[in-house]
Amino acid sequence: MDNLLKSLLMSDGISGYEENAGKIMTEALSKVCIDVKTDSFGNVIAKGGKIGAKKKIQIAAHLDEIGMVVKHITRKGFIYFIKIGGISDTILPGKTVNIINRKGKHIVGIIGTKPPHLMSAEEAQKPIKYENMFIDIGLSSKEEVLKKVEIGDQIIFEPSAGVLNGDFYYGKAADNRISCYAMVKVMEEIAKKNIEAEIFACATAQEEVGLKGGKTSSFKIDPDFALVIDTTIAGDIPAIEEKVSGLKLGQGVAITIIEASGRGTIVPQKIRNLILSVARENKIPHQVDIIEGGMTDAAVIYTNRQGILTGILSIPTRYIHAPASVFNIKDVEAAVALSAKTIEKVVKEL
Ligand SMILES: [Zn+2]
Repeated sequence: MDNLLKSLLMSDGISGYEENAGKIMTEALSKVCIDVKTDSFGNVIAKGGKIGAKKKIQIAAHLDEIGMVVKHITRKGFIYFIKIGGISDTILPGKTVNIINRKGKHIVGIIGTKPPHLMSAEEAQKPIKYENMFIDIGLSSKEEVLKKVEIGDQIIFEPSAGVLNGDFYYGKAADNRISCYAMVKVMEEIAKKNIEAEIFACATAQEEVGLKGGKTSSFKIDPDFALVIDTTIAGDIPAIEEKVSGLKLGQGVAITIIEASGRGTIVPQKIRNLILSVARENKIPHQVDIIEGGMTDAAVIYTNRQGILTGILSIPTRYIHAPASVFNIKDVEAAVALSAKTIEKVVKEL
């Protein structure tokens, strides 16, 4: 597994706490871009292409991951938490987490619940709510816990990243660090070419809690075209019917056309046609994504200012918003190829 990809997946950065993941992006982008800065909102923005050119293009991949935050510490040293971003309570019991304190130290904990032996028949039927779960870090008093953990510290799922089998990889925070990785690779492609536009690579903050960094960054950059790279739901697992999601791992990058049944982005027809034609002309493996739930930064970018032309490329991913997701590295490569070619075409034709 590529070192940059691995370090992005293993890094921490729930919404609003993106600093560590941001440092990795800053270092990686600095090798192929200039003027890499973290803005006041926490977005990491770098410049490539032809600096000072009239046309401006923004690439956006969100940097944040879903997670939790420490809310309360009991007298006996157990930790209650709130959720940040869309997490199903059903996946939480028994999971290993890392609480990251203000000094950056990782404290390992286990999410505890009542054992099934002691549940009434009625209790055993009902899913446990996160409010009734707590984290055990192996300390027995509030005083001891407070030496390591404070209210407001971020909590992430236990970091993991690796190869499952062949091109099938897994990792924490695949949504959306695999797209951050892809964005670095796109900027490497762009650096090799003579592109008559200023290209802003933007790792956006706080997407998972309301598409916030996409809004602030695109307002500032005011691009002629924006390309959002994110993950999307792969449907090739037993729990999902093909008619709900036909996207399959290893079948290529997903060209997202509609999000959240149109409440999110409806990609303008000329952008839809342009991206599809680029994929076909260059024989880049691709699938088309129409999604009824979920949206990306594109939804706020394309409605920002007077409306900004925006496209979305998505990497099909299994188990999004779970402790570890599964994706196919070939789809990531297809996303890189289609992003770079789309930008070239947009610069020439739009
Ligand atoms: Zn995402």
